[in-house]
Amino acid sequence: MENGIHYRTCHLCEAMCGVAIEVSNGKITSIKGDEDDPLSQGYICPKAVALQDLHNDPDRLRKPVRRTDTGWQEMEWDAAFDLVAQKLHQTRSEFGRNSIGVYLGNPNVHNHGSLVSTLPFLRAIGSQNRFSATSNDQLPHMLASLEMFGHQILFPIPDIDHTDLFICIGANPMASNGSLMTVPDFRGRIKRLQGRGGRLIVVDPRCTETGKLADEFHFIRPGSDALLLMAMVNTLFAEDLVELGPAEHLAKDADLLRLAALAFTPEAVSDHTGITAQTIRQLTRQLANTPKAVLYSRMGTSTQRFGGLATWLAYCLNILTGKLDTPGAMLFTQPAIDLVSLGALGGQSGHFGTRHSRVKGLPEFGGEY
Ligand code: SF4
Repeated sequence: MENGIHYRTCHLCEAMCGVAIEVSNGKITSIKGDEDDPLSQGYICPKAVALQDLHNDPDRLRKPVRRTDTGWQEMEWDAAFDLVAQKLHQTRSEFGRNSIGVYLGNPNVHNHGSLVSTLPFLRAIGSQNRFSATSNDQLPHMLASLEMFGHQILFPIPDIDHTDLFICIGANPMASNGSLMTVPDFRGRIKRLQGRGGRLIVVDPRCTETGKLADEFHFIRPGSDALLLMAMVNTLFAEDLVELGPAEHLAKDADLLRLAALAFTPEAVSDHTGITAQTIRQLTRQLANTPKAVLYSRMGTSTQRFGGLATWLAYCLNILTGKLDTPGAMLFTQPAIDLVSLGALGGQSGHFGTRHSRVKGLPEFGGEY
């Protein structure tokens, strides 16, 4: 690397903080947050600072290696690419395209190089045996997006910088720096929210790092989020608090939801959730009566028995209170690399269960098992 300051993005996590890497005599001398980065504004976490150690680690691979009978052997990049291409081609010719399995880890979506090159690569491989971290993480969100917004990777995100009430259920952005949300310096952003008179409410089975910053924290029994959210829907209708906003066109069947929620009164779910009926009503009123508010749910509501339902209900609550597609609430994004318009799913909006895995018969989702 040339001497001077190199501006890059840390892609260890979804926050994608801007970093300024100072190089002197071919060595990294410091890694700092890039003050001019519009998203992270100078913030970085200790992981980015530690990239320096990773980079300078004498054991780090500098070149591709291949296993031989006599041990690992270094090779040149061109030779490595040729070898991989030849083996992939040979395997596919001999055993068919589905003989190649593809697994994609999370950092692929934090890296613009991967974002633009992965899709053509997957199309070229042509295998139906694709896997990723998604199934451990966000499938319920993708299913809700497909059913509600028409595309499985169309994720609205909380407008944290302009909201006055951030209700966070089953998520710990203090540790994750946001997931399906992307918020470097969550602590700073929450301080600014609180500084302008806003509030953070956290609902979680554990008093997490995010819970410790909250103005209001409520324990909930694990796996009972769908009951809480259903009771909030019940309260909205019972107290005449439904006010559809810009997303009214998404709420054609709102009356069916009212009927479905009839039995789930705050009293009926209180014992199951561990949250009092009064608290459930107050939580609902705060969401409905705060003009700029948002209800955000994540891993804790996703990776559980009622994950699909809980995630769908969280979006329903935002829609029923006019908190979707409006500033200070849940917003659709305008990404630099728009996977939806790039046709990430072969031009389709998504699919579920169009084929099943060979051994367990589990459904594919968006082309992945
Ligand atoms: S929060 Fe830390 S790990 Fe994540 S992108 Fe920023 S610096 Fe990197």
